[in-house]
Amino acid sequence: MAGLSTYNIAFKGLALGTHEFDYQINKKFFDHFDGGIAEDGNITAKVVLEKQSSLMVLWFHVSGTVKIQCDRCLDLYDQPVSSDNKVFIKYGESKFEEGDDVIWVSTNDHLVNVAQMLYDFIILAIPIRQVHPNDKDGNSLCNPEMLKKLKKMAYNPKKSEKKPDSRWDDLKKLLGNE
Ligand SMILES: [Zn+2]
Repeated sequence: MAGLSTYNIAFKGLALGTHEFDYQINKKFFDHFDGGIAEDGNITAKVVLEKQSSLMVLWFHVSGTVKIQCDRCLDLYDQPVSSDNKVFIKYGESKFEEGDDVIWVSTNDHLVNVAQMLYDFIILAIPIRQVHPNDKDGNSLCNPEMLKKLKKMAYNPKKSEKKPDSRWDDLKKLLGNE
């Protein structure tokens, strides 16, 4: 991945034990990944590599905010995200099946790039419900103009999406209720 070489961890020359790598993630990082729900953010990431003789463990801690679109008012807002994850790296001559938290590196490899993993963990940390948080008084921080429009539209929200089921009418006729 060109431009993401900052996220290469050259493990071959590292001594056994733990090694810490710190990253500041911003828009430049997100620009390398297409079509995600977040295209900007401000994240502090710490990757701790624990090197053992037969395998390595990567610990990921991400914390900060990502800029995403509010589902309610459609404005962008800063969603706080924070997560801790762990990935095992196993060495081997022949590739074995990788799992969600196990990746394989060839014995000839000397580095691992953690950019994609960091990106995935940031995206996974975004909650399913993506709306502006409330302020400390419990008021929504959504765009007030948009909220007004939404309120007007909310008088009959089901009208367009729920058509009466004609089969039900036929059944009622059959039963003599109408
Ligand atoms: Zn909003």
